[in-house]
Amino acid sequence: MIIAIDGPAASGKSTVARAVARRLRYRYLDTGAMYRAVAAEAISCGVSFEDTVALQGLAEATHVSFTYHGDDPVPSAVMVGSRDVTSEIRTPAVDAAVSLVARIPGVRSAMVPIQQSLALTDDTVVEGRDIGTVVFPDAAVKVYLTASPEERARRRFGDREAAGHEAEIAAVAADITERDRIDSTRAASPLATASDATTIDTTGLTVDEVVDRIAELVSGVAR
Ligand code: C5P
Repeated sequence: MIIAIDGPAASGKSTVARAVARRLRYRYLDTGAMYRAVAAEAISCGVSFEDTVALQGLAEATHVSFTYHGDDPVPSAVMVGSRDVTSEIRTPAVDAAVSLVARIPGVRSAMVPIQQSLALTDDTVVEGRDIGTVVFPDAAVKVYLTASPEERARRRFGDREAAGHEAEIAAVAADITERDRIDSTRAASPLATASDATTIDTTGLTVDEVVDRIAELVSGVAR
């Protein structure tokens, strides 16, 4: 079974999707990490974010994979080839570049078949922006997570500080707003709520409360 979790930046998707995967023993697939890996490659190779042909070529050549430890369904590392890029893909520079890379249709068409093949072998929680609309339109459970802009800025600010990056809450809020603007207005697979998705506003809810709601949706689906 596929559980699709979409939503804007810092809406709690990663935390919730990981917790759902661990609770239900589903595999976890972070599709944002794949676009981030391509953006990190573009930065390190000096490819312009306007050069759609070069970025498509880079996406096709970037072999992203996930490393798992023991029986944890959540990967411990994101790899590009044999290189561990787990930290590199979470830098402010990648945050600022990733939406510019992910809006290119050729980049998306390189990534989507890989996402589909990675998730089809097992029960999987798939997190992204277009999972319920484009990647898995027939997913058994579709969730759209949101949270208030203030809450999202606070969460991302906390992530940045925890990762040791300098941050200012106003700049973090502006970055989130800009990323959501690009993600939801692009022509190719924009961020949107699937018509059959359940929207959950995570503002003021604990992770466990959100996971409980998703687990209820899953148990309501006849297998
Ligand atoms: O989820 P995360 O914030 O890591 O995603 C980073 C970026 O990757 C998003 O802002 C979006 O531009 C892109 N993305 C996407 N489609 C997905 C997942 C992520 O366009 N399915």
